[in-house]
Formats: sequence, structure tokens, C-alpha cells
Amino acid sequence: MPTSSLTLNGRRLELETGDITRQAVDAIANAANSALRGGGGVDGAIHRAAGPGLLDELVRRYPDGTPTGTAVETSGHGVAARWILHAVGPVWRGGSRGEAEQLVGAYRSCLALCDRLGARSVAFPAISMGIYGYPGEEGARTAVRTVAQHLRGESSLTLVRFVLFSDETRRLFDAALAGKR
Ligand code: ADP
Repeated sequence: MPTSSLTLNGRRLELETGDITRQAVDAIANAANSALRGGGGVDGAIHRAAGPGLLDELVRRYPDGTPTGTAVETSGHGVAARWILHAVGPVWRGGSRGEAEQLVGAYRSCLALCDRLGARSVAFPAISMGIYGYPGEEGARTAVRTVAQHLRGESSLTLVRFVLFSDETRRLFDAALAGKR
């Protein structure tokens, strides 16, 4: 599937189907768990690609993990990106337990870290939309809306790319992006 994109305030929001561990951007986001000790899904893929130094850094710098709805940064170790942003999205529990705010928080924390670090480009997976069970349509809409809001303001970022692992997830993000045009 070709890349879809939207330009906001001179900055690009892109959608791509692929593997986030292979992205040549300044920062990649990880859909981590609160303990920050590695896991399945995209977290497992990022740890495998980065190598054992990533877990060592997480244990040393973040011994207590990080709460749901927040993110922390590490260096990229074996991946091409300079930084990895470990974002903790919510587990879906029906929608009345603050899941929407926590998902927004996970994306916003990564965007704020990018500005603090001076990152110009960042790639995101579909946070919470795998094992954590966030409903697809709502998850994609929340992700696109949160990033679009950020790009309309001041930011070091000139490119935000969602890297979607399946055609189904890509379709959900395409629909969400179409709603923004
Ligand atoms: P969560 O626990 O936050 O739901 P998951 O890793 O289970 O996180 O899933 C989040 C999304 O990441 C899912 O859409 C999943 O298909 C996708 N994913 C898994 N591996 C990769 C990868 N290598 N690159 C990009 N996305 C991936």
C-alpha cells in the first residue's frame, strides 16, 4: 500500500504499512507495558532489534517502570533510530476506566519527549491496539487526532509516521486520516 499523508502547518503526518523496528527516523515509539521489562508484540520486536543493552538501560534508569498514559526515553541501541520512546497505553476495560485519556496521554508524552530531545521525525505503532485490545476505529481516530493537534502547534517535529503492521490496522488509520482532511 502506498504512503498516505497529510500536511499540517508545514509538517507531515504519514501512514505506512510495515515494521517499526526498521524505520530511519530520529525516534521510534514502543507500545510498552508499565513495568518496562519487555513483552510481546511490537515491544518484543523492538527489544529483539535493539539488543540486550535496551533492557539494561530500562532497568537502570527506570527501576519502577512508568505509569499508564506516560512515556520515557532510551537510546536506540541496535535500531537505526537515535531514541526509543517507551509509551504505556491502556488495557481496554470497556471504555469507562479512563482509557481514552490514557491513550491520548501515551501519544502526548511521546510528542513532548520529541520536543524536549529536539527530534525532527518520529514513528508510532498503533499503541494499545494489539494485545491491549483497544477498539480499532476509536484507537486510530484518537491517535491521528492527538498527533494532528500537536503538529498544528509549535514543535521540533517535521514528520510523524504511523507504521502499521497489518492491512486491517492500516485501513483504520486511513479512515481516521480521511476524516481529518
Ligand atoms: P499493545 O499491548 O499496546 O496493544 P501490541 O504490541 O500488542 O501492543 O500491539 C500494538 C500494535 O503494534 C498492533 O497493531 C500490532 O499489530 C503492532 N505491531 C506488532 N509488531 C509490530 C512491528 N514490528 N512494527 C509495527 N507494529 C507492530
